[in-house]
Amino acid sequence: MANDQVLVLNVSYEPVILIHWHRAICLVMAEKVTVEAVEDGRALRSATAEFPYPAVVRLRRYVPATRASSLGCSRRSVLRRDGFLCAYRASSPVCATRAASVDHVVPRSRGGGDEPTNLVAACVPCNQLKANRTLRELGWSLHRVDPAHAMPLFDLEDVPVAWRPFLPVAA
Ligand SMILES: [Zn+2]
Repeated sequence: MANDQVLVLNVSYEPVILIHWHRAICLVMAEKVTVEAVEDGRALRSATAEFPYPAVVRLRRYVPATRASSLGCSRRSVLRRDGFLCAYRASSPVCATRAASVDHVVPRSRGGGDEPTNLVAACVPCNQLKANRTLRELGWSLHRVDPAHAMPLFDLEDVPVAWRPFLPVAA
């Protein structure tokens, strides 16, 4: 399976986020990360050189998890973390359950950030109905556990072999 995502670890080897390999190469060239593991049998070729494909990179400086979104928190990783189920399904009257969008729990216009802990999977009707309001204003709650406690987002069955030594063992 071709995998375009690279696992980013914090200085402390704690999994932080997934990023596209384009972004990972930028971080390697900027010397912001070191390559911890490469994907066997896969290489990136330029006109003059060949590089191993990074599978896992580690930050050289500690980045708080709440700021890790500056490294690129993909929409897909949020949807996968939440199992493609709308986070508002127990409380919203219009919920379609199957999530196809990502919503800011605290809207950006109200000071909410792009950190993974403020992002949840949401169905389109809920996302549109919620708009720029807070859960409190709507009387809604999150169906699932608070995303602040739901990181990281890995399904060990489904991750590249090169990542496995770096991920917590699933319970
Ligand atoms: Zn919904």
